[in-house]
Amino acid sequence: MEGSRNAPARPGTNLPRIADFNQAVILNAVRHAPEGLSRVELAELTGLSAQSVSNITRRLLDRDLITEAGTLVPAGRGKPRTLLRLHAGGHFAIGVHIDPTVTTVALLDLVGDVVASVRTLPASAASPTRLVGAVTAAAEGLVAATGVDARRVLGLGIAAPGPLDPGAGVVLEPPLLPGWTHVGLRALLHEATGYPVVLHKDAAAAALAELWRGPRGSAFALEDFVFLYLGTGLGAGLVVGGELLSGTTNNAGEIGHLMVAADGPRCNCGQRGCVGAACMPRNLVAEAGDAGLLPRPGTGDREIDDREIDELFTDLCALAADGSAPARRILEASAFRLARGAATVSNLLDVRAVVFGGPIWDRISAVFLPILRDTLLTTTEARQVHPVTALGSSLGADVGAIGAGCLVLEHAFSTRPATLLLGQELEMATLEP
Ligand SMILES: [Zn+2]
Repeated sequence: MEGSRNAPARPGTNLPRIADFNQAVILNAVRHAPEGLSRVELAELTGLSAQSVSNITRRLLDRDLITEAGTLVPAGRGKPRTLLRLHAGGHFAIGVHIDPTVTTVALLDLVGDVVASVRTLPASAASPTRLVGAVTAAAEGLVAATGVDARRVLGLGIAAPGPLDPGAGVVLEPPLLPGWTHVGLRALLHEATGYPVVLHKDAAAAALAELWRGPRGSAFALEDFVFLYLGTGLGAGLVVGGELLSGTTNNAGEIGHLMVAADGPRCNCGQRGCVGAACMPRNLVAEAGDAGLLPRPGTGDREIDDREIDELFTDLCALAADGSAPARRILEASAFRLARGAATVSNLLDVRAVVFGGPIWDRISAVFLPILRDTLLTTTEARQVHPVTALGSSLGADVGAIGAGCLVLEHAFSTRPATLLLGQELEMATLEP
């Protein structure tokens, strides 16, 4: 039924079809209330009749999408009400983050928590075919090791460097992954794993992760924010009104060539001072090499280069942490340039927060965050009306993989998901009542 002789035999995946708008509305309301909601509250929140809420919640309970979780005794003389929550262990999603220096595969439950994760070949060190084999083995290994029923895996999401053609599931020509030109990654992974597969940019996936998993219990809900994703390159994920802003072809957020310093390092676009170049580990490591702080990176094989640069960058951050003033100055200059770019993007969208994260964030946050905070609080145009806060992502280096899994969850929950899911149509029938 998967349409490929190479696909492993697998029973139909329980991908929930939310063609029913009201069902999506109920699921979304439950999703946003981790403490649980009663049927009465659901009817009040959604404007649906008690009978509709009762029918829909019965269906969602039968499908293990929600679960009954305790009772609420209303003040006064009301009847105790059963609380409904998402059924965390009812379904799962696999998230794959592809970065030049590391590939991460994570298994998420239905609320977006990581059940288990594993790292495998970095994309810069593997051909697409070899990487698909490694990712497939890693995904199957995670499902087997955790004892999760593969039929409860809703699908597999991929977060990859842009630009992408998410509609066609194709990685175009990511500037940081030479050799990865027009790779039909979504189809390759669908064939290899049998799961429905969705593909989006790393920065967009990271923003989605923050939207799903972001600061729980914080003072304000993150509904309007920019996620600045710092890895081998820089990208932005834009969230407006609680929805990912994707652009005409899902390539919104390519801010790398925003000019922030006339005297900045030369960028591969030919200009000087692009914000992407200003916080690219490759350039910062080269600067430290020129200053005699670090050995200069080798000029040999590009594949080895990316990992070598990642290690040298770790050394540079360690030097700054150990009190080396010149190392600290290199990072601070980069932080000021990034801050200028962040302020421009936040002015453009009038957001309340800019969230910073990605593979290199944990190494630079101690130096970067105070500078980013100060710049956003003191230079954004909207500061007279509301503060713009710089936040570090709490999701760590796995934010891309978590976001990739959230792409699948978003498909199950959203009334208008931002991306196409390959294989979806094949699996729908199994869940229809
Ligand atoms: Zn540039």
